[in-house]
Amino acid sequence: MRPSVLDPLFASVSTLPGIGPKIAQLLTTFLSTQPGREASVADLLFHAPHGAIDRRHRPGIAYSESGQIVTLDVTIDRHMPGPRGGKAPYRITAFDDTGSISFVFFHPRRDWLEKQFPVGERRIVSGKVEWFSERPQMVHPDYVLAPEEADAMPPLEPVYPLTAGLSPKTLQKAVSAALGKLPALPEWLNGPHKDQNHWPDFDEALRRLHQPEEQQDIDPESPFLQRLAYDELLASQLALALVRANMRQLGGIVRKPSGALQKRVISSLPFALTPGQASAIEDINADLAEPTRMLRLLQGDVGAGKTVVALAALAQVIEAGAQGALMAPTEILARQHFASMSPLCEKVGIRLALLTGKDTTRERRLTQEKLDAGEIDLVVGTHALFQGSVTFKDLGLVVVDEQHRFGVHQRLALSAKGKGVDVLVMTATPIPRTLVLTCFGDMDVSRLTDKPVGRKPITTVSVSLDRLDEIVGRIRSAIAEGQKVYWVCPLVEESEKIDLAAVEDRHRVLEQVLRQKVSLVHGRMSADEKDAAMQAFKSGETRVLVATTVIEVGVDVPDATIIVIEHAERFGLAQLHQLRGRVGRGDKPSSCVLLYKGPLGETAGARLNIMRQTNDGFLIAEEDLKLRGGGEILGTRQSGTPGFRIARPEEHADLMEVARDDAKLILETDPDLKTPRGEALRCLLYLFSRDEAIRLLRAG
Ligand code: ADP
Ligand code: MG
Repeated sequence: MRPSVLDPLFASVSTLPGIGPKIAQLLTTFLSTQPGREASVADLLFHAPHGAIDRRHRPGIAYSESGQIVTLDVTIDRHMPGPRGGKAPYRITAFDDTGSISFVFFHPRRDWLEKQFPVGERRIVSGKVEWFSERPQMVHPDYVLAPEEADAMPPLEPVYPLTAGLSPKTLQKAVSAALGKLPALPEWLNGPHKDQNHWPDFDEALRRLHQPEEQQDIDPESPFLQRLAYDELLASQLALALVRANMRQLGGIVRKPSGALQKRVISSLPFALTPGQASAIEDINADLAEPTRMLRLLQGDVGAGKTVVALAALAQVIEAGAQGALMAPTEILARQHFASMSPLCEKVGIRLALLTGKDTTRERRLTQEKLDAGEIDLVVGTHALFQGSVTFKDLGLVVVDEQHRFGVHQRLALSAKGKGVDVLVMTATPIPRTLVLTCFGDMDVSRLTDKPVGRKPITTVSVSLDRLDEIVGRIRSAIAEGQKVYWVCPLVEESEKIDLAAVEDRHRVLEQVLRQKVSLVHGRMSADEKDAAMQAFKSGETRVLVATTVIEVGVDVPDATIIVIEHAERFGLAQLHQLRGRVGRGDKPSSCVLLYKGPLGETAGARLNIMRQTNDGFLIAEEDLKLRGGGEILGTRQSGTPGFRIARPEEHADLMEVARDDAKLILETDPDLKTPRGEALRCLLYLFSRDEAIRLLRAG
């Protein structure tokens, strides 16, 4: 049950004075963190300003700089309406001791203007000044106030991210009304920790965020922001710690077989394990032998060889008599895993099956029967299938490939599939350490930092689209030498239709100029069509594969040596790195061509530079985090895990570590959140929409 002290904050925004159904709807689509629920007062309060306008800046007309926002104390001189029906704007002149200025209005409402700017009277006017041919003017001032109403203008006015149809004034009013509902809440912070940092109370911090007194008040390092960011991080760390405690408490099963099956798997490989792979397997074996459940994240760059580690883990569990499941994010990948694992599984005696959305009802039933009978040891499929009705005789280990579409919810849902299920999550997005904490604070981590030996580095160049012909020429000679090429087409997020047109165009043009069949894969094709195209490319029947980013994750064609990424400037770093990882998987030198359309923006330029300079995924991830916020990297929107609203992983990394330790200590001393601080912490979890975790508490 949500503590009743929070009720005013969870009321819908439409209960606030001055917010009608239209604005409420707008705020809901813009701010609501709970799908299907109207935006709440709390949603408004957690909508943080990204800057503040200083209305105290009063330089006088003559000393106002062009482009600056200033507040002027003026006497109104003259109204100069444009000729009726004409396009000329309405001008009002005014003066102070230093000079005179025009206020300019387009589409004027004349009677309103006459009331607001009475000739001969003093007015306080605030807005942006611009100078044209040595005359200052202000187009549509933000404020016009009689001297006695001057208080109505905030000295420092917060500036919020907006959405179409939502004016700054409307949003400001809504936020002020929301602040009026803010109750005093019990303190959930540890007293000495709070004092030591000179942090204010929660409500004071939130008030100051929306009513800053100084510019610095809304800086990430201000005590107000620090406190709120810490609150949010603590809520998230506490929720993760609760999930973890719950998973552990449900009890794991000791799996300590002889290891013979795992040894057979490893010795059947045509290569030796890298030290990273060997040590990850050791970590996993140790986890499996414990009576608690394994919850481990395996991080490794593309091509680092995570699949082998997964297979070794699965072998251990299968030898112990249980079943394993490998979940892939897409059907293509599920098939690819199945195909590449089949020979090895057959050789060592692991009974392998594939479950996909394409199975007929009959096939599906048959597989299900075998799973229930324990006649299948290992099943490969997509996430979706496992979220459904699939059951097992004795599911022991689930391996999730490419987790970041796999959030806390899904992890919880898995618990239901079997007794003491161990979980191994693999990610090829080398998430920086700070973000690992954010999202996977509940997991242990193994990292594959070394690449399999014999890999040749990938040479990366960036080339302007103007030189397309030259690139096509080089591709032609590469193909003549027997190389294989991926050609990734631009991503136009706004429109799938344009994407499709672009990829089909490129495909046609390449077939024409290269005078050979080129494979094509895009999101609108059926799974069969995609399979067929991939297969043709893999077998060498075609030498070029044109694709949208569907090839992004995991696709393995070891003899592909060139990847061309068109409109590389539109892709994020993590994505470029993922894409580049499609090549450099074999023993031949590979290259990556980043085709960009100039002129490059600053960030896009920086991204392409980083790509040229390094192949190290972890380094790239750190740089990526600097270039943009954390939410984007994790794709939090997709995963359904609410992202951060106040905290910024790149600014508040140090707080994250403290929050993690704090959460751990809290659960050690007050596992059911029953003490007064524990009760206050429950409020905190609700406030930041982490209350799902509360249901895991034994006492509810
Ligand atoms: P990822 O980590 O991207 O999932 P994969 O598991 O798909 O990487 O491995 C990429 C390729 O490297 C595969 O063809 C795999 O057989 C090969 N590979 C994996 N481990 C090694 C190793 N230790 N030595 C040589 N090749 C390896
Ligand atoms: Mg993989």
